[in-house]
Amino acid sequence: MLDGVVILKHYDVAICGGGFAGISAALAAAREGKRVVLFEKEYMLGGLGTAGLVTIYLPLCDGFGHQVSFGIAEELLKLSITYGAEDKYPENWLDDIGTRTEKDKRYEVQYNAQVFAVLAEKLLIENNVDILYGSYVVDVATENNRIKTLFVQNKSGKTAYSVRSIVDATGDCDIAEFAKIPTETFKQGNVLAAWYYFTDQNGYQLQMVGASDIPDEERTGKEEKPLISRRFTGLDGKELSEQVCLSHKTTLEHWLKKRESNPSAVISTIATIPQIRMTRKIVGEYELAHTEMHTYFEDSIGMVSNWKKRGPIYEVPFRTLYNAKMKNLIVAGRCTSVNETLWDVMRVIPCCAVTGQAAGTAAAMTDDFSALDVSKLQEKLINNGVIIHEKDIL
Ligand SMILES: Cc1cc2nc3c(=O)[nH]c(=O)nc-3n(C[C@H](O)[C@H](O)[C@H](O)COP(=O)(O)OP(=O)(O)OC[C@H]3O[C@@H](n4cnc5c(N)ncnc54)[C@H](O)[C@@H]3O)c2cc1C
Repeated sequence: MLDGVVILKHYDVAICGGGFAGISAALAAAREGKRVVLFEKEYMLGGLGTAGLVTIYLPLCDGFGHQVSFGIAEELLKLSITYGAEDKYPENWLDDIGTRTEKDKRYEVQYNAQVFAVLAEKLLIENNVDILYGSYVVDVATENNRIKTLFVQNKSGKTAYSVRSIVDATGDCDIAEFAKIPTETFKQGNVLAAWYYFTDQNGYQLQMVGASDIPDEERTGKEEKPLISRRFTGLDGKELSEQVCLSHKTTLEHWLKKRESNPSAVISTIATIPQIRMTRKIVGEYELAHTEMHTYFEDSIGMVSNWKKRGPIYEVPFRTLYNAKMKNLIVAGRCTSVNETLWDVMRVIPCCAVTGQAAGTAAAMTDDFSALDVSKLQEKLINNGVIIHEKDIL
């Protein structure tokens, strides 16, 4: 018992959040033979990448024919199109022979959210991860700069789990916030998005409504205008409900307009979580900046490219994933410590998988991240298919 709450079980590694970062972290930690639990407040895996209907697995390559992200980032991309892609099938990359002739075609896919969610769940179960759905991590208990207990609210009421190390993959840095670790919020706030799926005579299709938060001129060729002037922090309960209602209203209006010229179009799926890109990130031991492309980092845990621009490659320092004030807490995904400009690059699916794999592997190795021998972590990552330095791919 702790504070009147029953401690149900002990785990070596607890993953909080089951988006792409959490899935990758859980898989990596479980493959190290640890007892792993994944707490997810929804009833499906994938986070924004499934429940949020954001189904474009952005590039694993630099746009000039070099694959940049490897390991679980590549494994999940391939998993997502096990039964076919919705769009952008990267045939030039999937031949395994590596001819890679079409160098200008980026290594990305559009996948089916529901298929990916059930396949990811199957993969984690096969790797002995305990998945606890409908389970909101609501608080932590700390002792000597370590999180000892996670409090979880679900249909059983409020329960507690004792844990050795924790990966914060909530996308919102919730666990770091509970543990009173310094965090930063997205100052300019997020624009409204209303991505939805519809069906018509041409099948099931993704409709992207809403601009990027930070202009994306190279990819789209134009700077889009936000749907409305209001911006959203993603960190206020009332504001989040208002954002969701506005998103639904926008979807309805958009579809009714579409029906005027395409009467067979029917809305088939709407998002079941708020479509918000950047909320809160950790103040890590290192903050990676957008200007630090092509920089060698001794403690790199993998590489990411820039989905908006061909060319840039970033090595991701291990220090961007933790703050030494809380020894056994590490973050992954859109909570990683990067500057505001790089945040819009780092938040996307392949980057979340890269940081997730590193965080999960590290969490299986230690309960004191700042004391970890990073070369041993790098050795494990390399053995599991990750290439960590740019000099090794060019
Ligand atoms: C409109 C929009 C368009 C985008 N477009 C693209 C795109 O085209 N391609 C791309 O690659 N990326 C895109 N992104 C970004 C990308 O989808 C996300 O940033 C990425 O999927 C985040 O992964 P994550 O695992 O870090 O976080 P999330 O996907 O947010 O996952 C976090 C998970 O944690 C759970 N959770 C949160 N708090 C708790 C808690 N306290 N307890 C338990 N569970 C909790 C959530 O339910 C969720 O499942 C877009 C995002 C948006 C909003």
